[in-house]
Amino acid sequence: MKISEIFHSIQGEGSLVGVPSVFVRTSGCNLRCVWCDTPYTSWNPEGVEMALSEIVSAVEAYQCGHVVLTGGEPMIAPQTAALTELFHERGWHITIETAGTVHHAVQCDLMSISPKLENSTPHERDGGRWAIMHERLRYQPEVLKKLTGNYEYQLKFVLSSPGDLGEVRKMQEAIGAPAHRVLLMPEGVTRALMAERGVWLAEICKQHGYRFSPRLHIDIWGDKRGV
Ligand code: SF4
Repeated sequence: MKISEIFHSIQGEGSLVGVPSVFVRTSGCNLRCVWCDTPYTSWNPEGVEMALSEIVSAVEAYQCGHVVLTGGEPMIAPQTAALTELFHERGWHITIETAGTVHHAVQCDLMSISPKLENSTPHERDGGRWAIMHERLRYQPEVLKKLTGNYEYQLKFVLSSPGDLGEVRKMQEAIGAPAHRVLLMPEGVTRALMAERGVWLAEICKQHGYRFSPRLHIDIWGDKRGV
């Protein structure tokens, strides 16, 4: 399995924010978000092939009860289901962070789904050559219904401007998710930009009953790898 990095940190986003967790980051993604904060797993995928037993040993070394399988897009890696079985056998709490475009039977305690909005489409980057594929794949309502129907879940949306709200509401309605399952995060990889966007985002959360999610790892460490 191609792994970009394995590290011990605290969960920075979503309902488990602050929980010490080991992150296993797979390399490779079927999307190309223009603002992707892990381009080393999507635009320029890097990593090393690791056996499942090596991955489990690396996680085990931290003696931590929470493991987060993230990416890239972990749901496209062929051995994801088998890896989650090994995690489950050890009794670890498993979060899978996914964009929600692919469904497989996996072991998962929290499906953390982050459907991508139009603000993610790379219209200009690389001459726009990824834009059509990204637009075609990024929103898969039937997959989202399956994921939310089969697993404990949260829906995390990344907003760049207040105008993104309409798309969030449309997706929420199509999926049939209650507001308390929806978390909104400001797009940005600097503290200053997230603080600025957090002001209008908090108002949206108050109006619609959504939950505001910080990106605590950026608040603490900034835009760095392995945190
Ligand atoms: S889905 Fe995630 S990893 Fe893939 S391009 Fe978008 S932000 Fe990057």
